[in-house]
Amino acid sequence: AAKDAGRNRFTFFNPLMAEKTKQRVQIEKDLKAALSNSDELLMYYQPIVAVKDQQLKGFEALIRWIHPTLGFVPPDRFIKIAEQSSLINELGDWVLQQVFKDMAELNRRYGEEMTVSINLSVRQLEDQQLAHKIKGLAAQFNLSMAMIYFEITETALSQHQSILSTLEQLRSLGARISVDDFGTGYSSLSRLRELPIDCLKIDRAFIVSLEKDNNSAEIVRAICALGKALHLSIIAEGVETSVHYQMLKAIGCDKAQGYLFGRPGPLN
Ligand code: C2E
Ligand code: MG
Ligand code: MG
Ligand code: MG
Repeated sequence: AAKDAGRNRFTFFNPLMAEKTKQRVQIEKDLKAALSNSDELLMYYQPIVAVKDQQLKGFEALIRWIHPTLGFVPPDRFIKIAEQSSLINELGDWVLQQVFKDMAELNRRYGEEMTVSINLSVRQLEDQQLAHKIKGLAAQFNLSMAMIYFEITETALSQHQSILSTLEQLRSLGARISVDDFGTGYSSLSRLRELPIDCLKIDRAFIVSLEKDNNSAEIVRAICALGKALHLSIIAEGVETSVHYQMLKAIGCDKAQGYLFGRPGPLN
């Protein structure tokens, strides 16, 4: 029996898994270093436009990490790792500090009506001090909360009841809440109506397939109708072609974001 157990244990040693663990530990360690000496981290901003006339409405803030040896590490890779430790709170604080600093400049360049969207992870929203912290930043930088949207993914929203009070606090400070990657999670319609939200961002997957897949157009149309019924604004993500744009215009979607209008880029 001991021999069997030994053999079983041995099959659990998977070199690929060990390599992955090693990489994850490395990323975590290097990200921690990057946060204390933050030349490697920077915020990029991607335009969001009104669909009807392509007028600039605001920007989404997206973090970038240029690792000294690995080069560009996509956020989808390191955010997940940061979320498995308390690093995400430090990273989130860094993002907030940086974006608030940049917002004054965005106001100067593009006017007071510009909005800025900031991605938040569940771990940040679980922090009961988050709204208080953000209120402090708005005061420090003398900025109106009305220009801010906080984005939270639909998946996170449907799994964590505990973050709703933070979302409500952020809204009562005057900020707005967007549901990111909408259409990929599992929100029931009745739940959507009760959530403290202002905007739905249609996941890129539905936009990418707009030209080929008739179902996608119907889904986008349905989400826009839902938005109207619930008084939520709708943003289409990942708009890459003028065919996408024309279809969204015909459907009557409010806003759009994607390479067609501009890639994420640094402020300077
Ligand atoms: P997201 O919030 O859904 O952001 C949109 C992603 O789509 C961004 O990827 C953006 O660069 C990309 N994108 C925009 N337009 C197009 C397009 O036309 N075509 C294609 N193929 N892609 C487009 P990015 O910057 O790699 O970020 C990935 C995800 O990482 C974000 O998805 C968000 O969930 C997370 N993230 C990024 N920055 C932050 C941050 O500061 N804090 C947190 N918590 N998460 C962040
Ligand atoms: Mg987002
Ligand atoms: Mg998204
Ligand atoms: Mg996403």
